Amino acid sequence: MIRVRFAPSPTGHLHIGGARTALFNYLFARNNNGKFILRIEDTDRTRSTDEYIEAIIEGMKWLKLEWDEGPFRQTDRFDVYKSYVEKLVKEGKAYHCCCSPEELEQRRKEAMAQGKPQKYDGRCRNKEGVEGARGQGAVRFKMPQEGQTIVDDMMRGKVVFENDQLDDLIIMRSDGTPTYNFTVVVDDVDMKITHVIRGDDHLNNTPKQIHIYKALGYEIPLFAHLPMILGADKTRLSKRHGATSVMAYKEMGYLPDALVNYLVRLGWSYGDQEVFTREELIRHFSFENVGKSSAVFNPEKLIWLNSQYIIKSNPEELAEMVMPFLENAGIIQKGQGIDKQWLSKAIKTLQERAKTMVELATSLRYYIAEDIEYNEKAKAKFLNEKSLPYLKELKESIESLSDFSAHGLENIFKAIVEKHGIKLGALAQPVRVAITGGTESPGIFEVLEVLGKEKTIKRLEKAIKAI
Ligand code: GLU
Repeated sequence: MIRVRFAPSPTGHLHIGGARTALFNYLFARNNNGKFILRIEDTDRTRSTDEYIEAIIEGMKWLKLEWDEGPFRQTDRFDVYKSYVEKLVKEGKAYHCCCSPEELEQRRKEAMAQGKPQKYDGRCRNKEGVEGARGQGAVRFKMPQEGQTIVDDMMRGKVVFENDQLDDLIIMRSDGTPTYNFTVVVDDVDMKITHVIRGDDHLNNTPKQIHIYKALGYEIPLFAHLPMILGADKTRLSKRHGATSVMAYKEMGYLPDALVNYLVRLGWSYGDQEVFTREELIRHFSFENVGKSSAVFNPEKLIWLNSQYIIKSNPEELAEMVMPFLENAGIIQKGQGIDKQWLSKAIKTLQERAKTMVELATSLRYYIAEDIEYNEKAKAKFLNEKSLPYLKELKESIESLSDFSAHGLENIFKAIVEKHGIKLGALAQPVRVAITGGTESPGIFEVLEVLGKEKTIKRLEKAIKAI
C-alpha cells in the first residue's frame, strides 16, 4: 500500500510551491489507490501559528486535495519523539550536549577564521559518564564522520554526500522540543510513509534523515525531490514575482480546478494535452512524466487556463461561485438574494469572455444594477440626434411585443433597419450604449432577453431623455 504525505510547516499561507507538492502527493496516492496524509509540522513554536494551520487547511480544501488521514500535528506528538530520543541516547546513538550557545558561537567564529568546517566539533560526543553531560542540555545525534551517504532519488538519481560534512545535529533542544530532521523521520516511520515526495530544498536534509532511519532500525522510504518553481527571471518563485499564496488566487477570481491544472503542468506533462479533468490527472499521473528541471511560473498561461475552465463550467455552478465577487464589487449587497436561475442565464452570455471570476462579476453589473452610467465617449458617439428616432421606434415596438425573446427582438430590429435602409450597427450600437453604458457586450438580442422587458424599456427611455 502506497502511503504519502504533505507535511507543511505552518509558518505562512499555503503557497504555490507547497500546493504543487501536495498535489503531486495527492495524485500519486490516488493513481496507486494509496493513502494521502496531511501532517502539520509545527514544532517551531516561535514561527508556527494556528491561523496559518487554518489557512493551509482552507487552501487544501479549496483545491479539493482531500486527505485520507490527519491533519496530524507534531505538537501533539512530543511524547512520541521524546521516547525515541531516549531510546537513541540509551543505545549510545545520541548524546547530551552542554555547550552553551555562546560557546558554540565562539567556536564557530574560530573555525571560520581558520577556514575549518563550521560544524559542531564533537566536544560532548564522548563525555558519557562525565558528570553534568548527562540528562541536561540539548541532545545531538551521532552522525557518521567518514564514508559517504547515497540518496537514491526518484527524480535526481543517485546523489552522493560526504559524511564528514554532516553535523552532529540537535534532535532535541535544551527546552525539550524536538527538531525537524528528527520528527520528520519519526513521523514518516510511524505513519508508514512509503514515498517521501517534497521540494528539492530538502535534498540536503535527506542524508541526515537516512542516518536517523538507520539508527532507529527502520527501512528507508523512497524519495522524490521535486525541482523548485521559478519566476520569469529564473530565480526561485517568491513574492517579488507576484502573488504566491493559493488563496490570493481565489480572491483574484481563479477557479480551483484551473489552478490545479496549471500547477500539475508545472513539471508534469502528458503528451501535448493542456486541459485535464481531475479524473484524467489521477489516471495519467506518474513520476516518469515529471520533468527534472525547474519549471517557470507563467501567469499568462494560468489566466488562459482559467478562461478555458470558465468557458466549460456549468453556468449554474458559476452563479454560485460568483456571489462573493459580486459582493466585493459592490454589485449586490452582502446577503442580498438573487434569482440564481436568472443569474446563470446572464452568465451564459458572458462566460466566453471572462478570464477570471472578478471579470465575470464586473461584466454582470449592467444586468443586475437598477441603473447604469454611460461611458462618456460612447454616449457622445451613439446617443445623439441621429439615433434618437430609431431608439424611439424600438421602444414603441418593444412595448407592444408579446414575444420578448432574442428571436422576437431580432425581428423587431430587422424591421426597423429595413424600413430606414440603415445598417444593423446604426441601431444596435446606440441600444448597446443605452443598455450597458458601453460599446461592448455579448449579442444585443441575448442581452435584452436576459435583462427583461421592463428594464429594457426603462433604459431606452433614459437614453431618449438623455439625448
Ligand atoms: N515541513 C517541511 C516544510 O514545510 C516539509 C518537510 C518534508 O516534506 O519532509 O518545508
